[in-house]
Amino acid sequence: MKAAVFEETGKLSVQDKPVPTLNSGDVLIKVDLCGICASDLAALNGDITDYSPPVVMGHELAGIVVESRHPDVKIGEKVTVNPMLSCGNCEYCRADLDKYCSNIEGIGHDIDGGYAEYLRMPKHGIDTGKLISVPDVISSEELIFLEPLGCCINAMRETILNKSVAILGAGPIGLMFAQLTRKTGLQTFVLEPLAHRRRTANEVGADATLDITAEQVETLIEQTTGGVDTVISATVNDQRAIDLAFKVVRRGGCVNFFGLAPGGQELRINLEHFHYMGHKLMASWAFSRWSLNESRQLLTDNEINLKPLLTDRFPIEGVAEGFENARQQRGVKSVLVGG
Ligand SMILES: [Zn+2]
Ligand SMILES: [Zn+2]
Repeated sequence: MKAAVFEETGKLSVQDKPVPTLNSGDVLIKVDLCGICASDLAALNGDITDYSPPVVMGHELAGIVVESRHPDVKIGEKVTVNPMLSCGNCEYCRADLDKYCSNIEGIGHDIDGGYAEYLRMPKHGIDTGKLISVPDVISSEELIFLEPLGCCINAMRETILNKSVAILGAGPIGLMFAQLTRKTGLQTFVLEPLAHRRRTANEVGADATLDITAEQVETLIEQTTGGVDTVISATVNDQRAIDLAFKVVRRGGCVNFFGLAPGGQELRINLEHFHYMGHKLMASWAFSRWSLNESRQLLTDNEINLKPLLTDRFPIEGVAEGFENARQQRGVKSVLVGG
């Protein structure tokens, strides 16, 4: 089978690999689609280090079970995965904070993932509830968003929300946040420098979409009499994004640095200024089992408009092009087609 292997920093190659063989309790998934995630770009770039190459990347997958050696899983089930396999019984795992478990094996990070025609879901992952079966009403095009949407839902629960929110960035994550904040009744502003992504933000129902020019930022601050209650930064948290976040948040407001940061990026603040501004600074990442369940429910009930988000498809052999497309932010979400 064809697979895209992250070999080392800067090196992603298409290889012919044998279809994985199963041990007792494992399941074989035929991959239909797999989303290209910003974290995959960052890992290839060397900005983040929670990957163990060489590994087949891909953790936002949609597939079908084609072989099962697990008594609880049937052939033909439509599935995605909770890609964070963890020990399942430490303090963190018991509190649904699997991401902090010290025995994490990430699908597409440490063990082979979905940038391939097939992947093996190990017994341990199934036994700890990490294989997610979904009803057929969820298309593969929607199913690849179950995990990233779960990250947004998790962040929504952690963030201090009031009446207004500014989402920085109208990539797939920003566009899902915008829909969640609208559903919660928040006045939702989306800030995005690219016109085609601002159009999509309008299409999915943001109250206002703005460019990040000085004039547009001024307009936002005026409209919200001093800034928004909450900023969710759903973009790469480089210095420009950090500065923008502090510009548009009101005194006493909350900033959630959700997006990844370039390697070595620091957050420097004058502590006295910070003290009197009373800002609430936080970060959120990943999902919980709870938030993935919520995400599954929202997709089942067709509550989130994902159609305009999936814009570009690439075959596995075209993974380099797909990554370049995502890096250049040409569409919104780029995906690889498995088989
Ligand atoms: Zn992801
Ligand atoms: Zn654990």
